[in-house]
Amino acid sequence: MDRPSVIRKTAHDLRVTPNLVDYEGERRMFTWAGARAALAGLPDGGLNIGFEAVDRHARGPRQARTALRFLARDTAPRDISYAELAALTSRFANVLQGLGFAPGDRMFVLAGRIPELHIGLLGALKAGVVVTPLFSAFGPEPIATRINLGRGQVLLTTDALYRRKLRDWRERMPSLRHVLLVAEQGGPTDEPGTLDLAGLMAQAGESFTVAATRPQDPALLHFTSGTTGTPKGAIHVHEAVVTHHATGRYALDLHDTDRYWCTADPGWVTGTSYGIIAPLLHGVTSLVDREEFDADRWYELLAQEQVSVWYTAPTAIRMLMKAGTALAQARRYPALRFVASVGEPLNPEAVHWGREALGLPIHDNWWQTETGGIMIANTPAFDIRPGSMGRPLPGIDAAIVEHLEADGEPPRIRLIEAPGVDGELALRAGWPSMFRGYLDNEARYRRCFADGWYLTGDLARRDADGYYWFVGRTDDVIKSAGHLIGPFEVESVLMEHPAVAEAGVIGKPDPVVGEVVKAFVSLKAGHEPAEALRMDILAHARRRLGAAVAPKEIAFLQVLPRTRSGKIMRRLLKARELGLPEGDTSTLEAGA
Ligand code: ATP
Ligand code: MG
Repeated sequence: MDRPSVIRKTAHDLRVTPNLVDYEGERRMFTWAGARAALAGLPDGGLNIGFEAVDRHARGPRQARTALRFLARDTAPRDISYAELAALTSRFANVLQGLGFAPGDRMFVLAGRIPELHIGLLGALKAGVVVTPLFSAFGPEPIATRINLGRGQVLLTTDALYRRKLRDWRERMPSLRHVLLVAEQGGPTDEPGTLDLAGLMAQAGESFTVAATRPQDPALLHFTSGTTGTPKGAIHVHEAVVTHHATGRYALDLHDTDRYWCTADPGWVTGTSYGIIAPLLHGVTSLVDREEFDADRWYELLAQEQVSVWYTAPTAIRMLMKAGTALAQARRYPALRFVASVGEPLNPEAVHWGREALGLPIHDNWWQTETGGIMIANTPAFDIRPGSMGRPLPGIDAAIVEHLEADGEPPRIRLIEAPGVDGELALRAGWPSMFRGYLDNEARYRRCFADGWYLTGDLARRDADGYYWFVGRTDDVIKSAGHLIGPFEVESVLMEHPAVAEAGVIGKPDPVVGEVVKAFVSLKAGHEPAEALRMDILAHARRRLGAAVAPKEIAFLQVLPRTRSGKIMRRLLKARELGLPEGDTSTLEAGA
């Protein structure tokens, strides 16, 4: 199907004036010092994420506004105002302080999207305690590994999760001094070796003096998704809040009266930076849905809850597409004005689908655990070139670089000035939410930097107008008969085929051409794997890509293996294809 190469914005898209209208002008004027001045700060130059997200609003005009609205299938919504959130997070900070925890200590959180997750995370930040959220679907092994790696001293979790997963593992996590349990099934809990959170909260005071954290003090420790290998622990500092605030303004276009919904799992960095922190920094109402993905329920929430800004991921969008456009079109979304996506390349097909199904195109943006916040984005005021990640936000300098030696250490690089050339995506070091280290791996951290640039490990190209196009991860790129093939390009073309729901593409070693392209696809409802369909998809790919780049082989899979953050794990497709060890699969989503 021929699609337009630009999606133009309509008056309906732009009915609220976007925050970023003059791209060049804003980039010229922007300074991080200026961005920080938009926040309150603590006395003597201190800065604290929890204070900025919660306490700053708790006394002003927003105090009675709903900060967080928790939704679940079988219970009534629970609304927590900014003033209540300030009191609850202060109680939690007092609980930690009362147990002897001090700034710099480390707390892990293992919970679904329950209020205590938000209260605990923000309360710990107010107490200066460093927080690591985990995927609640993790089994005991990945939980214990991460707590031990991070030398966690306190764990916040639920009674059900603790009983199911951790009761027998407690002595294998010797750094843990306390386990705080949320009694989900009615309390108080009397699990040996744990503390009942509700009881402690009830006794704790509602006023708390926020810890005098400095901008460079650690705040969050986040593990990467494990798409390319063993997850790495990325350390972030309180100053990251400046990026969270600026990107909430530019990339998510948050306005004062927004009703915002971020669907990311709390165990993924997006669930923290944009599921919890950024919307609160802007004082908006944030919806939190307790339930797992369900296409019909999601459309119902978008409509009924009058969501105005929605931040989701390609995997979710592909699942919605799989469920059929008609389901989306059965409702109207008059409040919705901006939809964004992150985590994986957003296939052009998905951008167009947004327009058809929701009435709005989907805005791809790019960042990583290491960058702590959105770096490159499609923003509301500008037309979208489907398949492009957009342009660097104000305050962010991006470049395409070439390595001068294969494995130079420290790396030696050259900036590629010409547009249209593939190379590694690099960012000029120094934005506030840049990670400050990999846990226990200083050497690997140092290898990420060259000549003042942070090297992202992603391949991209920049066009003549400054838009960035994702090519693939440096690990995933395919070398075939002298061509360098990015899997994204091939996957996007496969996705155009009406039967294809998802595609993952790998290079399969070949004695003649080096590697041949092999594709794994899953099909949309109503299509069955069959030889004729395989030939049809192959022919479509050849027509669109040419014989050199099109897959030579296509295999049908029910589902593609993906991480809990929803990313297709090409390394696993490859290992399985070649009969090699699967490596670290701690973040693999169950059933894949
Ligand atoms: P690991 O580093 O452990 O292999 P990961 O890189 O998937 O895992 P994250 O930090 O969650 O862990 O993901 C960041 C990566 O996700 C980026 O480096 C990029 O490869 C991919 N990504 C994120 N957003 C986009 C996007 N909009 N387009 C293309 N790729 C994206
Ligand atoms: Mg990564």
